[in-house]
Amino acid sequence: MNVFEAEIAKYERRLEKIERNPNPNMAASNKLLYQVQLEDNREHLRAWREGKDFVGVATGGMLMRCFGDFGRLNLVRIADRLATGRAEQCVDMVGALGLPDYACDRTVLFLPLATAGDDLPKPRIIVSRTGACEVVNDTHRTLAHLLGVPVFTVDIPLGDPDQENLAYVVKQLEALIEFVETHLPGARFNESKLREYQELGRRWRAALHDIGEMRKLIPCPEHPRDVFREPLFPEEFTNSPLIVKYYEDFRDELRGRVARRWSPVGEERLRIVWAITGPYGSNIWDYLAKRGVAVPFWHYGGSKRNFLGPNFGDTEEYGRKLSPLEEEARMWMYNSWGGGGERWIGDTINACREFRADGLVLFEQTGCLPVVGLGHVIAGRLEQQMHIPVWRIEGRQLLGRSEGVEAQFMAGLEEFVDLCFQRKEAALLRSQPS
Ligand code: SF4
Repeated sequence: MNVFEAEIAKYERRLEKIERNPNPNMAASNKLLYQVQLEDNREHLRAWREGKDFVGVATGGMLMRCFGDFGRLNLVRIADRLATGRAEQCVDMVGALGLPDYACDRTVLFLPLATAGDDLPKPRIIVSRTGACEVVNDTHRTLAHLLGVPVFTVDIPLGDPDQENLAYVVKQLEALIEFVETHLPGARFNESKLREYQELGRRWRAALHDIGEMRKLIPCPEHPRDVFREPLFPEEFTNSPLIVKYYEDFRDELRGRVARRWSPVGEERLRIVWAITGPYGSNIWDYLAKRGVAVPFWHYGGSKRNFLGPNFGDTEEYGRKLSPLEEEARMWMYNSWGGGGERWIGDTINACREFRADGLVLFEQTGCLPVVGLGHVIAGRLEQQMHIPVWRIEGRQLLGRSEGVEAQFMAGLEEFVDLCFQRKEAALLRSQPS
């Protein structure tokens, strides 16, 4: 089974399960989400069978939708969705390609799948960037080298304030358009398509913003499992309007929960902000929900831009209306781990403040370079400024889910949650008049 066929089978199973036995604790709009993903994988499989060209995108999927009818491969997301057994096979295959296996899972495990030829279509060109995760950039460039296909890397400067770099980035996007039209047969850039996708993107971010605001409320209306889902970009889906509709439906469902003061964690007793990534396929989210622990925010490189803005059409950040290409550049330019260390540290502390965290989990993925050396600074500042504890845990998100590792992780999590409860109780006692 190739990657698309495996995904199709997975979503068919999920939908069939929802039909047979709907779970009242899960969002009803999940059904639409799975339908969109099922339909999208079917479309990708059809495009591959019809011999359409594919583009490998480490970023900028919206711009890449505006050149005509081509398939797009978001390889990091494909790695994210691998089942544990398949991920473990991929690690062996990475070794067989002569590549190191110590990079983070989501950046490296797609390499054997994208080079083999029978798991995924080989991309005709690859588009990459700096200024978000350098490891993702490096592995996309490696893929281009292994396949012998042209690659274009957009250079995003690290400096703050990032707004000063707008013209520099726009110039590169213009060069990228020229590159795509030269190397992808039949490609022609269509600016009105870009305007259309940006309008969809504006609606999508508006829904995410509303969701983010509701998560700040106590009790948090969202299940920790749903919070730990990286939002799916509408432009990555063949049926982009439907994915926007999913986020709007989900937002409306959360509004209903807020009105009823209903939370999937029952009586909310504690809130933890989760950062970087986490172990996939484990039952930590149900464990937290059962203990009354809400996870109102998952903080990663793109979460601030996605949930807090600014949105397409915003005129405050630059004091003027931006052109479509400038809007695109704006969205590429800010990423919490795309600047100096202070950017990531500051955004993490702000996230804890805004979402009223009683504790922070920093899941430091093995091989994650953007956050190396910053965890102890964050822990020290949070202790000093907010008096909350931080659990720094290193692990791999897709691998190492053996029983022993899982048990060890769960024991560490339990200990941390206990500590947060104790600290919260002690702070409450201190604040009461004697
Ligand atoms: S976990 Fe770290 S290395 Fe991996 S994709 Fe995310 S930022 Fe990059």
